[in-house]
Amino acid sequence: MNDQKKSTKSILKSQKIIIHGRVQGVGFRPFIYNLAHQNSLDGWIKNTHNGVEIHVTGLDKNHQKFIGLIQKNAPQHSVIRSIEVEEIQLNTFLDFEILPSKEGTENQIELTPDFGVCDICVEEILNHSNSRLNYAFTTCTQCGPRYSIIEKLPFDRHTTTMASYDMCPRCESEYQNSSDRRFHGQTNSCPDCSIPMRLFFQNQLDETNPERICEKVIEAWNKGMIVAIKGLGGYLLTTAVSNQESVKYIRKIKHRESKPFAVMCPDIKYVHDNFHIDPKEEVFLKSSVAPIVLLDPKDASTFLDQIAPGLNKIGVMLPYTPLFHLLLNKYSKPIIATSANRTHDPIIYEDKEALIRLSEVDFILTYDRKISFPQDDSLIAFSPFKKKQITLRRSRGLAPSFHQSYSFPTDKTILAFGADMKGAFAYCTNTQVYLSQYLGDLSHFDVQQRTEIMIERFIGLFKTKPDIVLVDKHPDYFSTRLGQDYSVSHEIPVYHFQHHRTHFGAILSEHDLWNNEFPILGIIWDGTGLGDDSNIWGGEFFIKENSQISRVGHLKYSSYIAGDKMAKEPRLSALSFSEEISEVSKLLKEKFTKQEWENYLLLSKKSNLLTSSMGRLFDAVASLIGLCDVNEYEGQAAILLEQAALRFVKHGLLDAEPFSFRIEDGVVDIKSMLRQIAQQKPEITSEEIAFKFHITLVEIIRRIAEEHKVNHLAFSGGVFQNGLLVDLLFHKLENDFSLYFHQELSPNDENIAFGQLALYINSHSS
Ligand SMILES: [Zn+2]
Ligand SMILES: [Zn+2]
Repeated sequence: MNDQKKSTKSILKSQKIIIHGRVQGVGFRPFIYNLAHQNSLDGWIKNTHNGVEIHVTGLDKNHQKFIGLIQKNAPQHSVIRSIEVEEIQLNTFLDFEILPSKEGTENQIELTPDFGVCDICVEEILNHSNSRLNYAFTTCTQCGPRYSIIEKLPFDRHTTTMASYDMCPRCESEYQNSSDRRFHGQTNSCPDCSIPMRLFFQNQLDETNPERICEKVIEAWNKGMIVAIKGLGGYLLTTAVSNQESVKYIRKIKHRESKPFAVMCPDIKYVHDNFHIDPKEEVFLKSSVAPIVLLDPKDASTFLDQIAPGLNKIGVMLPYTPLFHLLLNKYSKPIIATSANRTHDPIIYEDKEALIRLSEVDFILTYDRKISFPQDDSLIAFSPFKKKQITLRRSRGLAPSFHQSYSFPTDKTILAFGADMKGAFAYCTNTQVYLSQYLGDLSHFDVQQRTEIMIERFIGLFKTKPDIVLVDKHPDYFSTRLGQDYSVSHEIPVYHFQHHRTHFGAILSEHDLWNNEFPILGIIWDGTGLGDDSNIWGGEFFIKENSQISRVGHLKYSSYIAGDKMAKEPRLSALSFSEEISEVSKLLKEKFTKQEWENYLLLSKKSNLLTSSMGRLFDAVASLIGLCDVNEYEGQAAILLEQAALRFVKHGLLDAEPFSFRIEDGVVDIKSMLRQIAQQKPEITSEEIAFKFHITLVEIIRRIAEEHKVNHLAFSGGVFQNGLLVDLLFHKLENDFSLYFHQELSPNDENIAFGQLALYINSHSS
C-alpha cells in the first residue's frame, strides 16, 4: 500500500489552476513564478480576464505542496476568492514562465485599489547608497498606484497611464528577474527612466530638477506659502500647519469657512507624540490604504483652531506616496493636506485644469503620470470608547474593490446610480460587485459632469454592458435622472428603490443577512430621502422577514419647511419640531427676527410636505441648546451635538435617565422630550442635555425592538456616523440584541448604490 502511494506520488502530471480574486497588480504572477521554481514545477502563468491561469507539470507531491503554499503565502494585498484545480493531459515544459496577458471578451477581475508606498520602498528612497535615493515615483509589486492609473483591463503597464514610459535597462532587468522585488512590477521606474516632474511658481515653470523642487517646496512651507501637490488621486493643497495666515488663505481659496482640514504628519512617531491613538487606529493609519483617520490631539493648543474649528478631533494621515515621504522627511513637521478644489467641486486631477484653476496658490508641483480615476483621500473614524470602525468616505485605497465573501448570484449586468448627497455608483458584472469611489455632492454641476465621465470610463474597462439600471425613487435627484436617461438611450429597464429600504438592503447584504429566518429590525436614520407617501423620510424602522421589508415605525411627522434651507438652518428644524410647545417657542423666538418668525410659523402651519427625518431632529436639538443655528457644512449641527455629549462623558460611558417620549403604533412622538429640554435648559448644561438626547434615542430603539419581539437590529443611514451613538447602542443593547453596523461601507448615502443592487438581487432571485 505504502509502495503504491509512493509510486503515485512520484508520477509526473500536469494541472490547470484557475484562481479568481484580487490577483492582478499585487505581485501574484512573480509569487507563483518563484513558488513553481521552488517546487520544481514547470509551466506558465498568465493574467486572464477573470484572474490568473496556471499550467504546471511536475511530481504529484510537488503539485500538492504548491497548491497549499499558494493559499498559505499569497502576497499581502491579494485576495483569493477561489482556486479551481483540474488535471489535464500531460504537457512537457522546459521551464516556468510568465506569459503576456491576453485581453478577454469579458473582464471579471477584481480591480485593485491604489496602495500607499511600502516600507521597503521608503527605506530605498532615503538610503544614500540606493539607486532610488530621493526618487519620488518609486514603487514595487506591493505598492503604488493601481486603480488611479488604469485605462483598460487586465492590469499591465501598457494598459495604464504609464504606457508611454519605457523602462531603462536596469528597470527592465529588475522586471525580468524572478528574485527581484520588482519582478513584473508594472509601475516600475527609477531616476534613469524617471517620470518628469515640474514646479510652477505663480503659474510659470520654475524648476524641473527633482531635488531642487523638493528644496523649494520646503522653503515655501517655511515661508507660509501654499503649494498644490499632485497626489495619487488628485491635487492637494498643502501648507505649514502652524501658519495662521496660510491656513486662512487656504480657506479663502477653497471657499470653505469651517469644514475641517486634514493634517499630514511626518511619521508615526509624531502621531504618537501628539495624538491619543488606539492600536486599531494605528493599524489603519499605517496600512496600505493610508486613509485620513480622525484622532484626538493630546493638547488641543498644539493645533490652530482654524484647522478644525470647534471640533475636538483632527483628521490625520501619514505620507502615502514616495514624494510626500521625501518632502515630509526633510520638513519633519506636519502640513495641511486638503483636496485642491473649491468646496462642492470634485477633486482636481488633470494637470491643465490644475494650472488654470489653482492660479491663486504660490506653487504647483506636478508630474507627467496621468490620473485616470481621480479619488479623494478616504476617511475613517473609530467610535470613542469601543473603537468600532466607521467608514466616513470610501475612496483612495478602498475603492473600487469590495471584499465581502458572498457574491451576487445574477447573470445580469447591473448599473446602480446611488443617490445625490454622497454620490457613488455600483456595477455588478459576472456576479462581481464594484463600488466606485466617493464622487461628491451631485447637486453641484461639476460633480455631475465628473460622475458622468467616471461611469462611462468605468464601464469602458469591462467588455460588458448594463442590462438593467437601478435608481432612487426621488425623481429630482440628478442620479435618478442620469439613470433614467441611460435606460432610455440604451433601451434597458430601470428600477426605482425607496431610499431608506435601500439603506436597509445595504446593511443586510454587508452582513449577509438576507437568508436568515429570524426577523431583523432595520433602524434607518438619516437626513432626507423620499418616502412611499411622498413625504421626506429619515427616522425609519423596518422589519425584514422572509425577504419582505415593511415599514413598522417612524419619527412623528413635522412640517418640512423652506425646502433645502431646512437642512442648512437647524433653527428651522427646531421651529418645525416644536410647533405648539410654548416652552420651546419662547427659547426659539430670539433666533429669528419678528418677521422671519411669523413667516416661518405660517409656512410651517400651511406646509403640505411632512418629514420624519432624524437628521433634522439632531439639528433641532443642537439649535435648541444653542450649539448651532446655521450649518456651514453638511451635518455640522449633528457633529457639534455629539461632541457636546462626549464632553459630558469624557471620563467613560455612563448611564443617564432618558427624556420622555411616546410611541403609538410605531410613531415616535418626541414633543415631551423637547418640552423637557426647554424646561431643564436653565438648570443643566447643554453637554448633559446632548448626552441625555443620545440615551433617549437608544431607549426609543429598545422600545420598538421589544414591541416587535425582534432580537436582531441592523443600522444604516448617515446618523450612524455618530460614534457616541454607536458606542451607546453597544453599551446598552449588546447583551440583549445582535447589532449590525456598516464597517467596510459607509453608513451614509455612499452605500445607496450598493443597497440598490442588494434590493434588486434579493427581490428578483427565485
Ligand atoms: Zn514598495
Ligand atoms: Zn529605470
